[in-house]
Amino acid sequence: RPVVFSGMQPSSDSLHLGNYLGALVNWVALQDTYDPIYCVVDLHAITVQQDPAALHANVRRTAAQYLASGVDLERSTLFVQSHVPAHAELAWVLSTITGFGEASRMTQFKDKSAKQGADATTVGLFTYPVLMAADILLYGTELVPVGDDQRQHLELTRDLAGRFNSRFGDTFVVPEALIPTESARIYDLQEPTAKMSKSANSEAGLVKLMDEPAVTAKKFRSAVTDTGREVRYDPAGKPGISNLLDILAATTGRSIVELEIEYEGRGYGDFKKDVAEAVVERLTPIRARTLELLEDPAELDRLLAIGAEKASERAERMLRTAYDRVGFIRRG
Ligand code: ATP
Ligand code: MG
Repeated sequence: RPVVFSGMQPSSDSLHLGNYLGALVNWVALQDTYDPIYCVVDLHAITVQQDPAALHANVRRTAAQYLASGVDLERSTLFVQSHVPAHAELAWVLSTITGFGEASRMTQFKDKSAKQGADATTVGLFTYPVLMAADILLYGTELVPVGDDQRQHLELTRDLAGRFNSRFGDTFVVPEALIPTESARIYDLQEPTAKMSKSANSEAGLVKLMDEPAVTAKKFRSAVTDTGREVRYDPAGKPGISNLLDILAATTGRSIVELEIEYEGRGYGDFKKDVAEAVVERLTPIRARTLELLEDPAELDRLLAIGAEKASERAERMLRTAYDRVGFIRRG
């Protein structure tokens, strides 16, 4: 079975609707045909400042949300990135074949660093895409299911794999991105031109998997729209309404056109209420299951240890090959 690799950062107490619709739903579907490796990428999370106690809790919370969303340990490998040191080790090697200018062109770095200011921005945030390349290349990954916001990082991964192979001999599989076409990107409800993000500035625009249903409903009620009245799909002219249409289409499986027809001549109020209901219905069982899993942290840790064991074995084999190719000698 072809390998897929993907991960999310434990950078918040909850994943959000973009993580879910843009990635997790796809992760679950892939289990039927692929050999998936799903990772809680804690090394990535510390590229922006995290509170240690919060991070500690969020690693398990993130893993629990994967499981509650349908990641199945019979068919997938689930582990925590810092449990497999090969990720950091291969990232170092890859950083030595990454151009400074090349890394400087990453738009996520530019966005995040602009928000934080130059003094708060770390070298780790800058080299984040190189670590992501290591994550993917360690497992001979063929497909990487990610949201549209990761397209550029995946392009860099492909370039690095190709460059390493041509310089040192065929080693890495050059992976493909698997980006869901429908609603690949979900936007902030308060700022519908900015992608929904765990590290977003507005809590009100962020739809969290772990929010209580009433909170979710309220966030949709106060979602920013526009002064018009038509529920029409027009991402440039009506970003708020278009985002809500994408969300409703993705949660119900109905088409945008069908939804436009249904809401013709009805106000935004009705429409927003229905979007909220559809989302709450979808997220409620996931939230309940997550809370249940979190009641037994020892069991979660046991499952994560099994995953780390499986992942380590594969990752170390690839790291050793890469070290050999570079010319390192093995420890005698
Ligand atoms: P952070 O703000 O800490 O970077 P994030 O919300 O961007 O968090 P990540 O952990 O970086 O989430 O990404 C996890 C996965 O979710 C990736 O596959 C990414 O493509 C996807 N993703 C993140 N945000 C969105 C979004 N708004 N719409 C669709 N997919 C998204
Ligand atoms: Mg992100």
